[in-house]
Amino acid sequence: MSARFKIDLHSHTFCSDGELSPEELVLRAANKDVQVLAITDHDCIDALIPAADAIKKHKLALQLINGVEISTRWHGFEIHILGLNIAPDNAALTEALQQQIASRETRARKIAEKLARVLPELDGDALFEKISDMAKGDSISRVHFARYLLQEGYVNHIQKAFDKYLGRKGKTYVPPQWMSPEHAIELIHAAGGQAVLAHPTRYDLNNKWVRRLVTEFAQMRGDAIEVGLPRQNNNELIQLANYAKQANLSASQGSDFHRVGGHNELGQLLPLPELCQPIWHNWSFLTRG
Ligand code: AMP
Ligand code: MN
Ligand code: MN
Ligand code: MN
Repeated sequence: MSARFKIDLHSHTFCSDGELSPEELVLRAANKDVQVLAITDHDCIDALIPAADAIKKHKLALQLINGVEISTRWHGFEIHILGLNIAPDNAALTEALQQQIASRETRARKIAEKLARVLPELDGDALFEKISDMAKGDSISRVHFARYLLQEGYVNHIQKAFDKYLGRKGKTYVPPQWMSPEHAIELIHAAGGQAVLAHPTRYDLNNKWVRRLVTEFAQMRGDAIEVGLPRQNNNELIQLANYAKQANLSASQGSDFHRVGGHNELGQLLPLPELCQPIWHNWSFLTRG
């Protein structure tokens, strides 16, 4: 099945910290021969309807999976959980996402204040307004701050903005108020979706903690972990495939595409190892025919 379909179950638009519009994203996916694409913006589902409309308008041979990437807090770490095949009109989910977006706004105000303290020529309120405008009413991200710091010459690379200011060890880090992983999984299930632990090996956790995360995710009734990640070597792929198998979880894959010219490209993934059960094994629209 994976040979017949090019499947990418993790991508972003400008409704969160991606750079493309929903229309540009689906056009690019089709152009890269992706046949199944999940849009998984951070705590936001605003891209889903415009993306579906664009697929119709351009008559693209692309199956859109309604997705979201929910930020959660687990033992002080920020852990991302994807919801795939969620009903975008589910009231409990949309309310919870509204709350997360409100938490993002509160965090952004605090980050702006902290930045104004270490960079005294900045005004906290004015900076918050600028960042808020950049997010256009959708999901405010630290990436918006990073872009601002780059644009104004405070750093020479987005990554530097995280290292120096915005990341966990940065000067202006603000611990977020995200929901728990249990809650995210419950919301995703109640909206008819599958819960996928995103990029388990990309959190700066040691192996012992990654294994603990995967085990607890399975105990919390999660459905799958991402096994196929962008810019991946074979060791990581096999390691994740084994983690999934040991925890009796399915395997997902996604490029985590954010922008053109970045490190990640849509659909650019190694094939899942045979020992995995792909999360799409029982998706009827793929198994039919
Ligand atoms: P936020 O959702 O606002 O907490 O921002 C996290 C996003 O920043 C991630 O989804 C990545 O797209 C991006 N990012 C880029 N570099 C880093 C980094 N070094 N640490 C954390 N996030 C990063
Ligand atoms: Mn992101
Ligand atoms: Mn993520
Ligand atoms: Mn992502």
